[in-house]
Amino acid sequence: MQMLKVEHVTKYYDKILAVDDLSFTVNDGEIFGLLGVNGAGKTTTFRMIIGLLDMTHGSITLNGQKINYDITNQIGFLTEERSLLTKLTVKEQVCYYGVLKGMKEKDILVKLDYWLKRFHIEQYKNRKIKELSKGNQQKIQFITAIINEPKLLILDEPFTGLDPINVEQFMEVIREFKEKGSSIIFSSHRMEHIEQFCEKLVILVKGQSVLEGNLSLIKKEYRKKNIHVIGDVDKKLLEKIDGVIKIEENANEMIIKISDETVIEKVFDVVKKGSNIQKFIVEEPTLNEIFLSKVGETYEG
Ligand code: ATP
Repeated sequence: MQMLKVEHVTKYYDKILAVDDLSFTVNDGEIFGLLGVNGAGKTTTFRMIIGLLDMTHGSITLNGQKINYDITNQIGFLTEERSLLTKLTVKEQVCYYGVLKGMKEKDILVKLDYWLKRFHIEQYKNRKIKELSKGNQQKIQFITAIINEPKLLILDEPFTGLDPINVEQFMEVIREFKEKGSSIIFSSHRMEHIEQFCEKLVILVKGQSVLEGNLSLIKKEYRKKNIHVIGDVDKKLLEKIDGVIKIEENANEMIIKISDETVIEKVFDVVKKGSNIQKFIVEEPTLNEIFLSKVGETYEG
């Protein structure tokens, strides 16, 4: 089922074009990644989705319905500017937002205890938010976004400032929401976060989509591959193979970039003649490589 539908959305701030004819859909149970450098238009897109900002052209619907106050109960949102009410206690903050989303205080408190325990921060329940570390504040922000078990969860740069253990913890929770059928859309400027995690994505450059679709299809269609080899192999022989684009040497490993999978066997024939071979692995290109080849400029993510 189609959940969120963004169609030909354009946004101008006066004369500044922030989002340019952007279209994508996010289905139930999908994790969708919105990727782009600073200023690419991610936050603007999110603000339009939740109705905080009017679009100049286009349409955004959730299950066929325009997004308005009536359906915000189904949405959870983690903003980039981290809108915590820092003088409140953790409990007060989460209750405040939960009630705004139509929940009963009793239910909020049960869920709050569960999430605080899950994130190992039960001891902060009655502490003021401003007394918490940045990472813990982010956890509270995240709990606030998910307390109503939203059908659509929008996360603007959720991993910024988190250590790897907490990134993994957030990812685990997000995957659980996916399993329960929620649609999740999140932004990042880090390719590897998107790569680990999303089946669908859009890459924005100056408000425009430059790469869009299903991640595994994107990788399949981009026919180039990388072969990683460890061992004593004649590099000159490899370079002579038709279809070998480039060979990079990285510590004791060779990365042979090939034009398509028909070249694998030819490379293998040369590698076989070498000695002390410890590794021969064919890998899909990284999202970063595909992106760079599309855009042809350095991505400062
Ligand atoms: P970041 O990763 O830095 O948050 P972003 O991808 O979220 O960036 P946006 O904040 O959506 O990007 O900004 C997109 C463009 O719109 C930028 O050129 C920005 O300068 C411009 N912009 C954003 N908000 C406004 C505003 N209120 N008034 C005028 N221009 C704006």
